[in-house]
Amino acid sequence: MRPKTHIAQTDPFRWEDVPVLAYKEEKGTHFKSITRQVLFDDADHFDTQLRYFEIAPGGHSTLERHDHAHSVMVIRGSGRALVEREVIDLALHDLVRVPPQTWHQFQATGAEPLGFLCIVRRERDKPALPTEKDLASLRSDPAVASFIRV
Ligand code: MN
Repeated sequence: MRPKTHIAQTDPFRWEDVPVLAYKEEKGTHFKSITRQVLFDDADHFDTQLRYFEIAPGGHSTLERHDHAHSVMVIRGSGRALVEREVIDLALHDLVRVPPQTWHQFQATGAEPLGFLCIVRRERDKPALPTEKDLASLRSDPAVASFIRV
């Protein structure tokens, strides 16, 4: 079946026939209160997917790294991100680049959820979680130590 040309927004940050999925269902991942919506996944024309993630107030994404990269744009709320050793304050419409093999984590800081678009390669490796040694190394930087949630 041909993908739809127009997908209307049904509610704020929700779209027609786009399921709202719980982020990562496998056990052993560290995350809190995240939903994922795959907005574009057109294998015939693109090697990438566009997803929309929403982190509830006070929630955070998994601290992870992997071979694939992310390109992110904040479209709702505000938050903070860690990219390798950099702790970044995120405002609406900011862009974040997550290069391959960099530790990254997102947190919602405001009263509203933190919502962001994320471009990713369709074929990608599985995220790796930090080992105790990785965590010790990350925590050697006080700003990083106070940021990370595992
Ligand atoms: Mn990631």
